[in-house]
Amino acid sequence: MPIDELPLLDHHAHGIYERDLEAAEVERWLSETYLPPAPGCSWWDSPLGLAVRAHCAPILDLEPFASPELYVQQRRRLGGEEVSRRLLAAAGVSSLLIDTGMADLDLCSPERLGELANASAHEVVRLEPLAEGLAASHISPSEYPERLEAAVRDGVRRAVGAKSVIAYRSGLAISPSRPATADVIKAAELWMSQATDGQPLRLTETTLHHHLVWVGVDACHEFGRPLQFHVGLGDPDLDLRAVDPTLLTPLIRAIQPLGVPLTLLHNYPFQRQAAYLASMFPNVYVDVGLGLNHVGPSAHTVLAELMEYTPFHKQLYSSDAIALAELHYLGAFLFRRALDTVFENWMKTGDLSAADAERIALQLAGGNANRIYPLADGGR
Ligand SMILES: [Zn+2]
Repeated sequence: MPIDELPLLDHHAHGIYERDLEAAEVERWLSETYLPPAPGCSWWDSPLGLAVRAHCAPILDLEPFASPELYVQQRRRLGGEEVSRRLLAAAGVSSLLIDTGMADLDLCSPERLGELANASAHEVVRLEPLAEGLAASHISPSEYPERLEAAVRDGVRRAVGAKSVIAYRSGLAISPSRPATADVIKAAELWMSQATDGQPLRLTETTLHHHLVWVGVDACHEFGRPLQFHVGLGDPDLDLRAVDPTLLTPLIRAIQPLGVPLTLLHNYPFQRQAAYLASMFPNVYVDVGLGLNHVGPSAHTVLAELMEYTPFHKQLYSSDAIALAELHYLGAFLFRRALDTVFENWMKTGDLSAADAERIALQLAGGNANRIYPLADGGR
């Protein structure tokens, strides 16, 4: 099967805006930062901006490299729903696992995204909002450990996986042992004392973060779900020095006997470190989603680095698309093209047969994800 016809299982993505978007809204999502570009400059002037103009413009009936102004105009002329349908159909994704943890953004639901993409859609529950919801619900700190456990078990049971964004909070140097209950209650007391009535409180306590990860690990173990970790690039909230995946090594070592699959998302620019971990530990899986979109024309070099060492049964596909349907399309397009380039090079030197290329492509496109996520429809 040619790589551009492979149905993909996107194991980490978000909803989109289906409404018509203003020029500034489209431009904002061409960058991972929530800060503005340099004075007088535009996010269109970036590898991702270039990729949108090169590859998305023709799907909206424009010439490749149409100007940003023309692109946004055409987007509005066709209407948000039509634009979403075209780009999502062109992505050729058969199954979407959606992180629903960004409730403040008013993105479409997994169900709606599945309808627009003609794909099956499943929820991945984010851990941090479950803890933050508790802080606003008038429980006493001594109830926190038990109530959190109940909330996480309930969330994980209903989803196909759980996700931690601890990378954004206290970094990936997570304690390889469960924090003591007395310490958790003490930290919860301090944290909750900062709550103002009814307002969700951002989880900031390191002890509580580490505890939350362990509660997530236990729930994933109980219900047979993978646990996703945000790793590598993100927004300016994170400190890149604290999100190198090798910092997870003590935790991975501690979790490995439980057999809970840990899926390391994005990883850029640490794709080689991630590949190393996937090679060492039977429960570690990796992707370079998000990275591929943001490096645009260089997607094949990043994928090639991940594939230098990652066992073929440990690599997954994700787009990490958010807000713009363009990012769902580009994620798929750039992944397929990059994989094609990597395989072509390996074949040229006699390192890969056509039969092996097809077998490996099927594993990366969805076979591996299907093995570890409990998808009743088999990823469709
Ligand atoms: Zn994401």
